[in-house]
Amino acid sequence: MSVTRIAVVGSGPSGAYTAQLLTEESESPIEVDVFDRLPTPFGLVRYGVAPDHPRVKSITTSFTEVFEETPGLRFLGNVQIGRDVKLEELRAHYDAVVFAHGAPLDRSLGIPGEHLQGVEAVRDFVSWYQGHPDQPGDAFALEGARRAVVIGLGNVALDAARMLVRETDDLRRTDIPEHIVEAFAASTIDEVVVIGRRGPAFAKFTNKEFIELLEVESTDVIIDPADLELDAEQRAHLDADPAARRLMATFQKAADRGSLGRAKTIRFVFDRTPVEFSGDTSVTGIRLVHTSEPSVSETLEADLALRSVGYLGKPLDGLPFDKRTGTVPSRDSRVVDGDDVVAGVYVAGWIKRGPNGVVGTNRKCALETVTSVLEDITAGESRASSAEAIDAVLAERGVDVVDWNAWRAIEAAEIAAGAASGRERVKLHVREDMLRIAAAARVPAHA
Ligand SMILES: Cc1cc2nc3c(=O)[nH]c(=O)nc-3n(C[C@H](O)[C@H](O)[C@H](O)COP(=O)(O)OP(=O)(O)OC[C@H]3O[C@@H](n4cnc5c(N)ncnc54)[C@H](O)[C@@H]3O)c2cc1C
Repeated sequence: MSVTRIAVVGSGPSGAYTAQLLTEESESPIEVDVFDRLPTPFGLVRYGVAPDHPRVKSITTSFTEVFEETPGLRFLGNVQIGRDVKLEELRAHYDAVVFAHGAPLDRSLGIPGEHLQGVEAVRDFVSWYQGHPDQPGDAFALEGARRAVVIGLGNVALDAARMLVRETDDLRRTDIPEHIVEAFAASTIDEVVVIGRRGPAFAKFTNKEFIELLEVESTDVIIDPADLELDAEQRAHLDADPAARRLMATFQKAADRGSLGRAKTIRFVFDRTPVEFSGDTSVTGIRLVHTSEPSVSETLEADLALRSVGYLGKPLDGLPFDKRTGTVPSRDSRVVDGDDVVAGVYVAGWIKRGPNGVVGTNRKCALETVTSVLEDITAGESRASSAEAIDAVLAERGVDVVDWNAWRAIEAAEIAAGAASGRERVKLHVREDMLRIAAAARVPAHA
């Protein structure tokens, strides 16, 4: 029987779960190549999930086991699909291609002044503090700034707000690079204002994430009790949503607690729509109107403004794309171009369903994808080429592929860097450094 070969684009949770489930569920021999544009696997588990959420990050242990213990499963890092290898080439080399490349862009607010220095996407801020190799180390300077505003009421907005007030000692217990710890240590920001367009009942972050804010010892969390007097629409929402009711109860506790006179403050402002940023070259303020009463407006001074209103997928050459939703259109995870199914091309994760859900949501999503892939391929014989054939294409183009062993060498260097400073790990953040370590790992011992 011929071996079915599948390409998975992206090694974040959706790509990793897809690869795992393909190898587990297939009844016939299967090989899976997982590509990632970065030299490192795990997508947003490494570069999104907050550094002070080690329990969530520990899912990488189980992904690692899958990569190490599954015959026929390979990691091909530092390969950007669309640039190094075209979609049509993948289709020619594999029986099926699953796109699981996430949502790397962000939604903008579309208001005047958004171009000003200091008005930034939360995505860039997160990537910066996580040591993402695409973000320069000096992308954010927090020294001299006093007030930051974070626009949005999701978990990512709260991650950013929490990171802005975290104590340096707390950060030194995480894996973020030392220059980032130092940038936070130099920060003079003592107030973060989290701005929501709607009322508190519609906040999207979880109760757990909000409780975590209340536990940051250096910081007061301020909720105006008047904001908790809900209108009919918010009350109806609470009646229908137990999670919103739980969160509202915690808001009430925070409002009752009030200020404890701590050094820093995170203040929540609800029912405000940003309409303009002010400043000459750098942001100095943000004008807000009351969402429920747009004739009333106010201006807040701000030295940094992070917009956190949603991640967005990115079009990839040759792949259909829905600009409105920022996703690749699909039916039962099969990519569609208008009404037509694009044979052999599938999607999983954020690029399929948009930027929502926790890491585990991507397992269920990947299972749907894998079910469709396996339904389609069991019908026919494999027409794929071989691992050697795709390796030859990459070698011919001079692509510096980081395989699983090379990634493990990068990881070992991070753990060694951590040990040197009493930390479990310190992330490498310069792509060239990672590639150098990867290249050394490829040299045979007797060479
Ligand atoms: C800031 C932030 C914090 C979060 N915190 C939590 C949390 O605490 N708990 C939780 O459960 N969930 C959290 N999430 C959600 C979780 O990270 C996502 O559900 C999950 O990562 C989505 O998985 P994905 O595989 O679809 O995308 P991603 O994780 O983004 O993975 C996509 C991968 O594709 C690669 N890629 C992109 N383009 C290409 C290309 N052209 N060629 C090759 N590879 C490519 C990328 O490098 C990346 O590795 C958080 C998300 C964010 C943004």
